[in-house]
Amino acid sequence: MRPFTPQDFAVRRRRAAAQARAAGLAGILVAPGPDLAYFLGYTPTAVTERLTMLVVPAEGDPTVVVPLLERGDLEQAAGDALAVETWNDGDDEYATASRLLAPDGRYAVSDSTWALHVLGLQRRLADARFVAFTDSLPMLRAVKDAEEIGRLAAAGAAADAAYLDVLGLTFSGRRERDVADDLAQLLRAHGHEHVDFTLVCAGENGADPHHEAGDRVIAEGDMVVLDFGGLLWGYGSDTSRTVHVGDELTDQEREVHDVVRAAQQAGVDAVRPGAMCQDVDRAARAVITEAGYGDRFIHRTGHGIGTTTHEPPYMVEGEERLIQPGMCFSVEPGIYLPGQFGVRIEDIVVAFPPGSPDGAVRLNTSTREVQVVA
Ligand code: ZN
Ligand code: ZN
Ligand code: ZN
Repeated sequence: MRPFTPQDFAVRRRRAAAQARAAGLAGILVAPGPDLAYFLGYTPTAVTERLTMLVVPAEGDPTVVVPLLERGDLEQAAGDALAVETWNDGDDEYATASRLLAPDGRYAVSDSTWALHVLGLQRRLADARFVAFTDSLPMLRAVKDAEEIGRLAAAGAAADAAYLDVLGLTFSGRRERDVADDLAQLLRAHGHEHVDFTLVCAGENGADPHHEAGDRVIAEGDMVVLDFGGLLWGYGSDTSRTVHVGDELTDQEREVHDVVRAAQQAGVDAVRPGAMCQDVDRAARAVITEAGYGDRFIHRTGHGIGTTTHEPPYMVEGEERLIQPGMCFSVEPGIYLPGQFGVRIEDIVVAFPPGSPDGAVRLNTSTREVQVVA
């Protein structure tokens, strides 16, 4: 993996400016978070009330507004090719930033920008309008280039390796949170620099899709949903598998797992030239509905992944955007039976990569058959 270069970030900013122009926007405003990492290669040590903001106008050159005391950090990370405007404690940072903006312009603002900053700009520029990236330019980061796909593939492979190791752990008699801690450690051991989540949902807790690992003691006979992910080289992993403690699965446990596995396969297979995002959801949901569990699949089928673990495009009914080559997203149907158990199976896929122009390629390749743990 080669590090991204200042040129890579410049290409992304030019593409963003072109998209902003096409959308009738005066530019984009990017605060610290995954978007700033994407457009500038800069992640401040701490995100605070002090304003840091990349301004990419639809026409003209970008500028970074940064607190004076962080200018050195910025230039160390991002080089000195970009114009920088500093402000000092006691200055009105919104006055500094607003001088870079058109007074009546419409700007797309990165989703993770604090309300404090948007409202501060709004106070200065009463006639300007601010809209969220997700609402105005949702596809800004959706199509990944070869370098990004390489990073997502590395993150997926590391998550798979962590899963293989997890299968060797003892589950029975330990708390969910103990297995979750092990899982986090394994993700780091396999190269993740950051762990976002390690869900361990045993038995009836598996029926809650976002159950946080807790004190429940895992027992023989439990189905256990594992859902884990984080960042490696700045790009995300996110995968789910459902395991069983001991080899005595009930007929229902087997059936539900088989249905989810078939639904997941159908979702992946729905990635075909000309397919819309919602087609992935429809294909997976059809399998589950046909098996009689339609009302037990209570979330969308997938989400994009990149410098965050959840981002557009969303694989959901009503999302009619076409799936584009280079889009990376999860396919993660589930069935949730309250009071009993849940099953979810999730892989990240890349759409139409070089060599596979007609379909999706999985970035997670660990077995999707139900695995028995001790
Ligand atoms: Zn069981
Ligand atoms: Zn997940
Ligand atoms: Zn996911």
